[in-house]
Amino acid sequence: MVDESYLLLAGGVGAAKFIDGLAQIISQRSIKIIVNTGDDINLFGLQICPDIDIITYTLANLVDNEKGWGYKNESFNCLSVLNHFYEYKWFNAGDKDLATHIYRTDLLNQQYNKDEVTSIICRKLGVEAEIIPMCNQSVATYIETDTKKMHFEEYYIKYKCEPGIRNVKFRGIEKAQIINRIKNYMNNAQKIILCPSNPIVSIGTILSIPGMKELLKTYKNKVYGISPIIQGAPIKGPADKLMRWKGLEVSPVGVASFYKEFLGHFIIDKKDKGLVQSIENLGINCYTFDTLMKNIEKKKKLAKFVINLN
Ligand code: GDP
Repeated sequence: MVDESYLLLAGGVGAAKFIDGLAQIISQRSIKIIVNTGDDINLFGLQICPDIDIITYTLANLVDNEKGWGYKNESFNCLSVLNHFYEYKWFNAGDKDLATHIYRTDLLNQQYNKDEVTSIICRKLGVEAEIIPMCNQSVATYIETDTKKMHFEEYYIKYKCEPGIRNVKFRGIEKAQIINRIKNYMNNAQKIILCPSNPIVSIGTILSIPGMKELLKTYKNKVYGISPIIQGAPIKGPADKLMRWKGLEVSPVGVASFYKEFLGHFIIDKKDKGLVQSIENLGINCYTFDTLMKNIEKKKKLAKFVINLN
């Protein structure tokens, strides 16, 4: 076990795969993770934080590995009754998962902030890594489609990312504040790692917090990223659609150009080795590796490769 300190920027499922591997090769206590909260949503009167929960359940070894989110061995009895009462028939929340949302909402009602609530839940579930919401203020990612504006979760789950995207808004982002200790963590981290997450609505949301990009720029030489795009496509999710909306090429080069002001190093898949020069032309050191994390061995190998780079 190497004992160092790593600060990660993360979304949900893609990030959780990398974090799962990292937590097998270094102590969880060396890992701090800033997690996107733009997907957070209030449903059934409960505060739901999808990305925080994915990362928490992964590190607590509770996650459903098949789906990449939610609890393993889950049942959906409560939801089947809630669906009689509410309109949100598209949202999937299992019985155990709902318990997390109930507890979180209870703590928030007791005036704990999101950061405090997250650390209480982590402690109770035995997570030793530090999971930090990107901010305490409420931020909601909204997708403006050809027909209507909707919360990102609705776009993703109910509409399966099918409608065309006209605009993306992070509602409330102008009031979001960087949680103070993140500045120290950036300074002290051995490496700052942008997980292989959606560049626009996971990492991009975190980057939109006022001052966040400027802070990262200061540490460019220790900022590492892993491409979520392999051979011109995401593994899952709407990163391609969102990148096109943003005017970016759907490739590791497109991701690198989006991050280029503060990205010092980029790990792309070995199948994309032909793109190394284009990325280095952006002033970013580029490395190739097998980045498709199909199983725990591959996750560990990628994590080991990234932390051993210098
Ligand atoms: P979400 O919020 O749950 O959608 O999760 P993220 O934003 O963390 O991750 C979505 C991104 O992860 C997508 O763009 C995927 O292409 C990427 N991703 C998922 N699995 C892998 C993988 O095994 N390797 C790489 N390189 N990217 C992945």
